[in-house]
Amino acid sequence: MRRFEYDQRLTELLSVVTELLRKGYVKWPPEAGEGPIEEALRTLGCRIPRREGLFTLEELGFYEEIKPSPMRTFNDTEELLYKNWPTPLVKLKSLSKGETRVWAKLEFYNPFSMSVKDRIGWAMFNECLSGNHNPSLVLYEATSTNTGMALAAMAAIRGLKVKLFLPSTIQKASDVLLTIMGAEVYRKPKTLTVEFIDEVEEEARRTGGVHLNQFENDANFKVHLRYTAKELDLQVKSVQLKLKGIVGGLGTSGHMSAISLYFKSRYGEHVKVYGVQPAQGTFIPGIRRIETGVKWFHYVKFDKVVDVTPEEAVEHVLKIARSEGILIGLSSGAVTAAFERLKEEGELEEGDYVLMYPDHGFKYIEQFSKFIEENLNPMTPNV
Ligand code: PLP
Repeated sequence: MRRFEYDQRLTELLSVVTELLRKGYVKWPPEAGEGPIEEALRTLGCRIPRREGLFTLEELGFYEEIKPSPMRTFNDTEELLYKNWPTPLVKLKSLSKGETRVWAKLEFYNPFSMSVKDRIGWAMFNECLSGNHNPSLVLYEATSTNTGMALAAMAAIRGLKVKLFLPSTIQKASDVLLTIMGAEVYRKPKTLTVEFIDEVEEEARRTGGVHLNQFENDANFKVHLRYTAKELDLQVKSVQLKLKGIVGGLGTSGHMSAISLYFKSRYGEHVKVYGVQPAQGTFIPGIRRIETGVKWFHYVKFDKVVDVTPEEAVEHVLKIARSEGILIGLSSGAVTAAFERLKEEGELEEGDYVLMYPDHGFKYIEQFSKFIEENLNPMTPNV
């Protein structure tokens, strides 16, 4: 694995971020040797103090960015993304029993890719291209669909061109969706490995394009720390949950690593964090095995990583569709399967659990059709 090597600067930043989240305040000005405090405050969406003193994060605007438009009116489609957060947190009655309640965070309420990836498409785009007004700039990205859709949307809004590289393992519907959204789509006859990402990097370099690179770009991890994790925390507080654990899939590891850093810094070991990966030798769109090269996972703590098969993922998509009436994506099915396994294994104490549902099921018609042909009479009401 060439990439994702140890980054001392990121380690220093995350250690200051952890300390700020743990204490909940900052003493200003910082003392020499305290590390990159200004950068850490900016990373958390806080203002830099203008005078000496002790300031809580709240006094520095920590929660102010999470302010949805109350009447749901938006000046443009970009606002429809970031002024519509938080995405919903909904109790799943079918999985909740007694004192154990299960909540799903529905990331398909994001408007462009109908997935968690809108957040990083927006963040990487704005962070990397804010000062660059070259209209002939071409963006490059390796994607398993969702980041591609988010970037295609951002490129459409700003009038730029985007070239997307999909692995062979992804459903054909993705080429159609991405092409309709205005992207140039290329298939590579391989899975999404570090070598794949390197080839896209090389192609961008050769042609003078920009490779945003969700796998290494810290804007990915940071946007989840500043928004996804923080808004989940606010939601959990607003309904006074006894949060015991959060379960979510690992792709780049961006959203779950940020959630882990945030919740473990604020609440210590009271909140367990579980990652989900495809079982050895299998493939579930959007999530990958850790050994294929994930970055931020290695900077934070996970209590356990659960292996799930594609069959279990589809079975749990059906289970949720037929009990809750929502059609979730395959990685959300995998997250549900992982939660049920943890419960069966006696791993979970009573309390509230959050399942991160990254996307909707509409992209996975091919996988669902195959499952129906092989396993189901389509008229059967229950699995
Ligand atoms: N699920 C789906 C459907 C995804 O598209 C992705 C990422 O591509 C993930 C899960 C994993 O998210 P992350 O990249 O933040 O680990």
